[in-house]
Amino acid sequence: MSGPDTGAGSTATIDLGAIAHNVRVLREHAGDAATMVVVKADAYNHGALAVARTALAAGATELGVTTVGEAIALRQAGITAPILSWLHRSDTDFAPAITEGIEIGVSSKAQLAAVAAAAVRTHRTAVVTLKIDTGLNRNGVASDEFGDVLALLGRTIADESVRLRAVFSHLACADVPDHPANDRQAKVLQDSVASAASAGVRPEIVHLANSAAALTRHDLRFDMIRPGIAAYGLSPIPELGQFGLKPAMTVSAYVALVKRVSAGQSVSYGHTWTTPRDTVLGLIPMGYADGVTRSLSGRFDVAIGGRRFPSVGRVCMDQFVVDLGPDGGGVQEGDTAVLFGSGVDGEPLAQEWADSLDTIHYEVVTGIGGRTRRAYIPAVEHPAGTVLQTPEEAST
Ligand SMILES: *Cc1c(COP(=O)(O)O)cnc(C)c1O
Repeated sequence: MSGPDTGAGSTATIDLGAIAHNVRVLREHAGDAATMVVVKADAYNHGALAVARTALAAGATELGVTTVGEAIALRQAGITAPILSWLHRSDTDFAPAITEGIEIGVSSKAQLAAVAAAAVRTHRTAVVTLKIDTGLNRNGVASDEFGDVLALLGRTIADESVRLRAVFSHLACADVPDHPANDRQAKVLQDSVASAASAGVRPEIVHLANSAAALTRHDLRFDMIRPGIAAYGLSPIPELGQFGLKPAMTVSAYVALVKRVSAGQSVSYGHTWTTPRDTVLGLIPMGYADGVTRSLSGRFDVAIGGRRFPSVGRVCMDQFVVDLGPDGGGVQEGDTAVLFGSGVDGEPLAQEWADSLDTIHYEVVTGIGGRTRRAYIPAVEHPAGTVLQTPEEAST
């Protein structure tokens, strides 16, 4: 998302109070387990630094990201909590991560060797977390390499180039709580921890549960839960309800133009929609370049003044049109149109876009961008509706 106001006026407003609330909800589900909040992909596009600070203040104790670069950016912005990063190449230079005290998730012998070599070079002990592939078949140590990785871990722990912080894995089917794969993966994780122990390699903690498992499978909490999406207030299993979570992102834009058109007029590229009657159209200056996917054309609503109005015709690169109806719905140029938000004022939810697009709300919130600016509502008690602009965070 861009920093300075580009004039388009589209905004992703992040309610940090909602993030804090959601972390507290997750803390209740965590029991005695710790909570690592996942802030990868710029905190699912909510702003990694602001979310990290808010989550830590609300009771999370660790952060998870994908890349070393994301982790270092948080560290250099002053985050002192443990940060785990888990997706690397075998030729990644791990020295900066080690110097910054980033916990490195390793998925292969080559990665572990690269971490250990960087530790020796930097005269530091690298903090390593072993990622086990327990059946997702994506990232993680493959079972045929596990013995070799354990042997190398044993040697690198002995020579103090490595400290083994944790063993973890990631579930393939957590959004189906009673899916047999969940138990199978948990069993493989436990067995891996046991065989590591018999080889003399003992992690300090074990973790597995993403948001879905944290909320529905308390038996899979191990020592720490590792939620992402739930912290942003989006239900990891929409069919099972909201779990008391509050969506944190509201996307809005100004009504740029209001105009009266007669019956039989066709609207936007390709003339795919024609006014069935005299009506009033509203122009919203946000388009597919900003994350309003073109395939949503004619299949979503915006809320203006608490009323919903349908998108008509094709979504363009920078703009789309809504039908305000024959009486214009009382909408004025300069009014705020809410594309999706928390739903409390009747506005659409990110889930509705996900349903229309046959995807998941993760992709909807991470897809908002282009000229959209980010604004924050602070988590602390504050006069209602105060929006803090933090351009240095908005520009990341
Ligand atoms: C993204 C991710 C998470 C968080 O998943 P959610 O479904 O958003 O809770 C946890 N662990 C790993 C390894 C991930 O990649």
